[in-house]
Order: sequence, then C-alpha cells, then structure tokens
Amino acid sequence: MKRARKSEVVRAPSIAYRRMTRNTASAELVCDGIPLAQLVERYGTPLYVYSSEMIRARMKAFARAFRSIPHTLCYSVKANSTLAILQLVERVGAGFDVVSGGELERVGRMKKTAARNVVFSCVGKTVPEMELALKSGILLFNIESASELGALAATSARLRKIAPVAVRVNPDVSAKTHPYISTGLQKHKFGVPIPEARELYAEAARQPYLKVSGVSVHIGSQISDVSSFADALTRVVDLVRDLRRLGHDIRYVDAGGGLGISYEGTQADFQEQILAYANAVLRPLKDLDVHLLLEPGRSIVGAAGVLLTRVIYKKTNNSKRFLIVDAGMNDLLRPALYSAHHEIVAVQRSSSAIEVADVVGPVCETGDFFARGRELPATREGDLLAILDAGAYGSALGSNYNTRGRPAEVLVDGKQARVIRKREMFHDQVRLERL
Ligand SMILES: *Cc1c(COP(=O)(O)O)cnc(C)c1O
Repeated sequence: MKRARKSEVVRAPSIAYRRMTRNTASAELVCDGIPLAQLVERYGTPLYVYSSEMIRARMKAFARAFRSIPHTLCYSVKANSTLAILQLVERVGAGFDVVSGGELERVGRMKKTAARNVVFSCVGKTVPEMELALKSGILLFNIESASELGALAATSARLRKIAPVAVRVNPDVSAKTHPYISTGLQKHKFGVPIPEARELYAEAARQPYLKVSGVSVHIGSQISDVSSFADALTRVVDLVRDLRRLGHDIRYVDAGGGLGISYEGTQADFQEQILAYANAVLRPLKDLDVHLLLEPGRSIVGAAGVLLTRVIYKKTNNSKRFLIVDAGMNDLLRPALYSAHHEIVAVQRSSSAIEVADVVGPVCETGDFFARGRELPATREGDLLAILDAGAYGSALGSNYNTRGRPAEVLVDGKQARVIRKREMFHDQVRLERL
C-alpha cells in the first residue's frame, strides 16, 4: 500500500496542506509550517499572508541563474510595495525599480542608502519627482520621450546634479501576454522607437548634466514565452554596439521585468523557469561586457502571497450557486481588471466533496468576482478560503472602493509571523477629509 504523504505541496516551497489526524482526509493549509487558520484567528479576514522563505528563495534563484554576468536585481516595487517586503528583498541584495516618486520615497523610508540602487522608470516623471530622484542619487533614469529628456536636462542643470540616463526603447516585439500588461509594441505608450532613441542619445550627450550610461527595455508582464525576451534583447544589443561605436559609454543594459508565473501550477519548476529566462536574456548579451539590471516583480513575490477570506453567505440564484466572501475586488483587483485566474483552496479541508460555484465579494459591482463556475471544495458558511498567488499586484493594487478598509498583511519568517501592515480602519480612511 502507498504510504500516505504527510504534506502536500500547494506552492513550493512554502504553501502546503498538512494532515491533521492520521486516519481522516482532513488537512490544513500552512505557510512555512504555520497554520493559516491560526493567523486568521489572530488577525481576522481578509488577510494577506506572505512567505519570507519563498521570496528569499526566488531572489537567490535569480542571482544564481545570472551569476555569469555582473548584475543587479532591481525588484519592481509596484508588484508589492509594503515596506517590510522591500526590506526583505533589500537584505538579500536587491536594488529597486520604481515608477513614481512615491515608490522612491518608500524605498528611502525603508533604508536611506537604498536609493543608490534604484532605477526610475515611468512615462510621465514630473519635475518634483526628478528633483527627489536627483537628490537621492539614484542609479539610473529610464527616459521615455524627448520632452522628458529635456525636462531632466533642465532639472539636473538647475540642481547641478549629474543624472545617469538610459533610454527605454520600444523594441516592437510582442510579449504574448494580456493586452493591458503588454508594453513593447509600437502602438503602446511605453518607450521610444529605436531610431528615435539614437537621436535622444545624441541629445543627451550634448547636455552637461546628463550622463549617458545605459539602454533599457521592458516589454510587459506575466510573460511565459521567453523567446520574447531574447527578441527584445537582440535589438537592444544591436543598439548598444552602435551607440558604443558613436562614442557613448554604455555600461548598463536594463532588461526590465516581466517573467510570468504559473497561476495554475505548484511552482515546483520555478528554478527551471528562471534558468530558461536567464538563457534567453544572457545569450544575446554574450561578449557585450555590460552590467545587467533586471527588474523582476511578480516572479519574486507573486506565488509567495495568499489572500485569506471567509465565506459569509452561500446563495443560489435559480440554479447558480454563489459563495459570498468577505474579500472584494478592492482587495484583489486582478480577476476584475484582467480576467485573471487565481486558484482558490480550502484553508481547512475535511472531505473531498466538490461543488461548482462563483466566488464573489460584497462590492457593488458585477466585476467583483474571484472565480466563476469553478469546481471548489464543498464549503459551508463560515469556512475559510485561500486565494493563491496573490503576492504580486494584490495589496499594491488595492483601494478603498465601497469605503472598505484594506486588509492586514502578515509576513511569515521561519517560525515567526508578524503584522507588516495593520488592518485599515475607518478613521484611517477619512483622516484627510473635511466637513
Ligand atoms: C511593472 C514593471 C516591472 C515588473 O514587472 P513584473 O512583470 O512584475 O516582473 C519591471 N519594470 C517596469 C518598468 C515595470 O513597469
């Protein structure tokens, strides 16, 4: 007879089912050994829980995959910008990719000197944001238009601070991902077409306070076909060689982020994925002699987070079954925004019975759903569900729509679990309002 497994991996290496007793089908979901139901008892629902171990493992897997080339991992702050998450990745050597002055302030709040390893991407950097970045001494400005280059030239000259610049090129390659998170085609607002980029480098070289130092590219997010990265990098490398021939000192190639995760798999193959990605990025860069910058977001934190929610009510409209949960689209927007799929599992499993249902939130929008017509473990009112792979673009995309407070966030680290963001209360929400 096959020996029953003691635990069943749900998201490697951290999220798993652990059998509760020897003789039954009952099992509980744990994060690095800590029962998630126990965290709910302490901190309530909805609740974000993240695994430090998983985040560190992914940072290390990246570093290992790219060890053949000088590189810096600039974690993309917008994927999950909670301060303790930034601190966790900084402690394993990360720099940061920011897309606003606010994100740069977060990095500075986490650690003053961390700005040294910040790259600043964004199509609409304002002058105050440029001033903040110049004063913070960031590593690289990724410039996305001639007008923006002009504004940075003027601002850096006024402050008498040298601005290290790269042009973010638009390589016109398809990322083969959701249209809302695809950024590298000619029709998108992002980046500068390569012929125009050449002119921007010439202009930058004429400006006394701009220092040409890199070329950047970022073609989108949740990309699973790594050949798109190879295509983009091949075009970038051609440009780097041309620019160097013209006398520009190109030290950095910023390959952006965008590596996808499997929202359906167990993530057991993430080492392999990262290796395939590294292969695609590194091959075009062979013999180029550059310092590589990478901006991974989702691939670091996505699978490391779950959103825990309680079933408030069950109802049946005609023949359609709904589970109404206490998390809503304001807590996790991805299904409403991108029709994104998230696996949903029971926090405490007692049988193998299945039912088909829609999992919906309490927000007054038909788009407020987490799953539609999904086969789920049979559930009773009061049961807890875990929405998986909610670590990236979950809390960061949250809002107060319907005057709902944002969930608390908990970080599990070894045997410890601690609150890294308290549950938002009503008074937090109305603090800035006046009657
Ligand atoms: C969003 C973004 C990233 C991170 O993308 P992921 O898909 O989360 O890895 C990196 N760089 C830039 C410029 C971005 O806008």
